[in-house]
Amino acid sequence: RGWWDHVRPAPKDPIFSVNEAFLADPFPHKINLGMGTYRDHDGKPFIPQCVRDAETKIRRCKLEELNTSAVRSKFAEECVKLAYGNDSSVVRDGLFAGIPALSGTGACRLFAEFQRHFYPDSQMYLPDPTWSNHHNIWKQAEIPVKTFHYYNPDTKGLDFAALLNDVKNAPDCSFFLLHPCAHNPTGVDPTEEQWREISYQFKVKNHFPFFDMAYQGFSSGDLDKDATALRIFLEDGHLIGCAQSFAKNMGLSEHKVGCLSVLCQSIKQVAALKSQLQLMSQAMYSSIPFHSILLVTMILSNPEIEALWRKEIKVMAKRIQTMRTTLRHCLENLDSSFNWEHITSQVGMFCFSGLAPDQVKQLEKMFHIYMTPDGRISMAGVTTSNVDYLANAIHHVTR
Ligand code: PLP
Repeated sequence: RGWWDHVRPAPKDPIFSVNEAFLADPFPHKINLGMGTYRDHDGKPFIPQCVRDAETKIRRCKLEELNTSAVRSKFAEECVKLAYGNDSSVVRDGLFAGIPALSGTGACRLFAEFQRHFYPDSQMYLPDPTWSNHHNIWKQAEIPVKTFHYYNPDTKGLDFAALLNDVKNAPDCSFFLLHPCAHNPTGVDPTEEQWREISYQFKVKNHFPFFDMAYQGFSSGDLDKDATALRIFLEDGHLIGCAQSFAKNMGLSEHKVGCLSVLCQSIKQVAALKSQLQLMSQAMYSSIPFHSILLVTMILSNPEIEALWRKEIKVMAKRIQTMRTTLRHCLENLDSSFNWEHITSQVGMFCFSGLAPDQVKQLEKMFHIYMTPDGRISMAGVTTSNVDYLANAIHHVTR
């Protein structure tokens, strides 16, 4: 047997496959509803003005004069402030171990590595469904994955009773991954009351909450409101793990910049955890490009730029909400016999349409509209110029 003869091609990533098929289609009015990155009302990738302003300021910095380690610490502190609030006690008392991570994916992967290292016999409970890569990430870190109930296909909303049951029935001290806002792929978030109940049950069971926050701002348009779940868990005294990504809410998907933070009980713990996380990232990929760290730190710490960012997030979230309303109305005006209420009750970047895999295939073959086989519509790909065409196509395949 020769070297590598035993290596077979890996299964294709569902999202990349959709994108490949879209790119290969020559039809001029094709629509890509697969990718989860924000697009503007012309369907173009969007670079927020706050990013341009921060770039201009950074250009004036003399890199050789910067204390890079201090900037990395400042970055982590700004990220933690964004998650838990400017005046939260964890920030004031420095009770967090935070390091820059290779976007949201890298933050999750680093946490999975950390989990395996210090809790080698643990498992990770993932919501059913979740971002498909969550399964790959924890599997690659050799942490067994279990799922907990989340989505109810009948109501196209949260299966709260089943979720709570799973939380109660999991072994004490289990790790759970939660999406604090704009759940991918369902667009279904628990209400504030439900979060309180979930947090309470986590406390009873002493579970560890790991929040993957890839879309802060996209649920409500308000960064603080979208962090409600984290703040409830904090108030209840949980130690929390948090992955943050700036790929979507700052339009920085190619910069691969994010943060992993873990709350700690003492300053001694902070030093231990931070040094372990640094050692692990150092061994995997050294560190992430410094320019991206500087860019995000500038946006988060310069009051004018930060205020502009907050405004721009509102605009992005509003555009998506408007497209939800328009798509629903278009379908209703076509006298669709289906109930499309969930298009507007779901939030964030995605609409879990309820379209079956064969309907998704039909949309692709007949109408050149591309989405993942689970019927997830990336609302970012819906624009005023394609929403009528999309509604007509959906109506056609659901008739
Ligand atoms: N977590 C969730 C829930 C996501 O949907 C995504 C991206 O699609 C990520 C993490 C990864 O984000 P990033 O592009 O920052 O690696």
